[in-house]
Amino acid sequence: MNAAPDPAASAQGVDAAPVTAPLGAPLSAPVTQDVHTIPRRLPEGGRPDLAGMTRDEMRAALLAAGTPEAQVKMRTGQLWQWVYHWGVRDFDAMTNLARDYRALLAAHFDIGRPELVTRQISADGTRKYLVRIAGGHEVEVVYIPEEDRGTLCVSSQVGCTLTCSFCHTGTQKLVRNLTAAEIVGQVMLVRDDLGEWPVPGAPRDETRLLSNVVLMGMGEPLYNFEAVRDAMRVVMDGEGIALSRRRITLSTSGVVPEIARAATEIGCHLAVSFHATTDAVRDVLVPINRKWNIAALLAALRDYPRLSNSERITFEYVMLDGVNDSDEDARRLVRLIRGIPAKINLIPFNEWPGAPYRRSPRDRIAAFADIIYKAGYASPVRTPRGEDIMAACGQLKSATERARRARAAPQGDAAGA
Ligand code: SF4
Repeated sequence: MNAAPDPAASAQGVDAAPVTAPLGAPLSAPVTQDVHTIPRRLPEGGRPDLAGMTRDEMRAALLAAGTPEAQVKMRTGQLWQWVYHWGVRDFDAMTNLARDYRALLAAHFDIGRPELVTRQISADGTRKYLVRIAGGHEVEVVYIPEEDRGTLCVSSQVGCTLTCSFCHTGTQKLVRNLTAAEIVGQVMLVRDDLGEWPVPGAPRDETRLLSNVVLMGMGEPLYNFEAVRDAMRVVMDGEGIALSRRRITLSTSGVVPEIARAATEIGCHLAVSFHATTDAVRDVLVPINRKWNIAALLAALRDYPRLSNSERITFEYVMLDGVNDSDEDARRLVRLIRGIPAKINLIPFNEWPGAPYRRSPRDRIAAFADIIYKAGYASPVRTPRGEDIMAACGQLKSATERARRARAAPQGDAAGA
């Protein structure tokens, strides 16, 4: 669910040129103007990759590699910790495993990551990663550091079948779903880059750089539910990466029949790409509304199994000038969601080239937010992040395609220009 367009860079007076920095650069690293490819590839050899496997997959793989049945539970637990708690990629570093067993593992498995193609760092610290997965497909991952948290926006599909009219990503056809391993790999790759794996013997730092995951990148996560669920179970596992379910948010455009599963099978927070208060407008902005309209969506949200005052649903609402931003819209929104513990995230629209909408004026957004706030709902206006590197959701497709075109030149676009 790619639901977070950002306000225009010009409002902040920032340079719109993409910037990159070398791998391992600290968060405060000065940005540079050079776009280049970071040479870091998947391990060769075609062996199964332990990184990204679920517990059941790892257990089956270890058995198939010759681990005795009587040991496989213990071995799975040990490997799990090395791969997901310590972030180790070298079998020789697994010091509680006998040397001959390490050799067996090294002969049968790799511990890899998705291929990192480029990393860009915004002036505000936001990091955008272009990641290549099997088949040569590419997705983008965005890390947003804040004072009290660090949020990673991961992708669940290459492209999207939905065609939300405010979303640039939605114009990219669905290529394929990501596997669970490819979704977990995004988290692991960014932990590598942030240097966040624990160091044996060092005091544990409870302040995490990557503390939250939002499924708001490319794609509709409820159209790839099993892979998303399995990936989040790996990420939540207490003996590995160990992110609390409360720190994971799944954002959907409104795939009504699948919504309850997010609570029962993952247990995560839910965000909904709502964006309109009438079916006529939502049919255009979020066309899945023609299949499951506002009434059907709200009924599913009222029934969301984990709904409570401490686990509110987030309503994402992009502010489009003259389309969905009137006082009457705000009042209607409040009436619609009455009784649902909720927070409304107001998202100033980011205008992309050819976009059919404009961003609502600042005072209109403020008036809209005020009506919602006075009705008793939190109504934060999303702060722009990473605008200088096109890291905002809704821009991911354009950035990916631009990078691909640049790499293809001069045989491709440049030759034809
Ligand atoms: S088109 Fe797809 S990626 Fe974009 S907002 Fe809609 S569901 Fe999300």
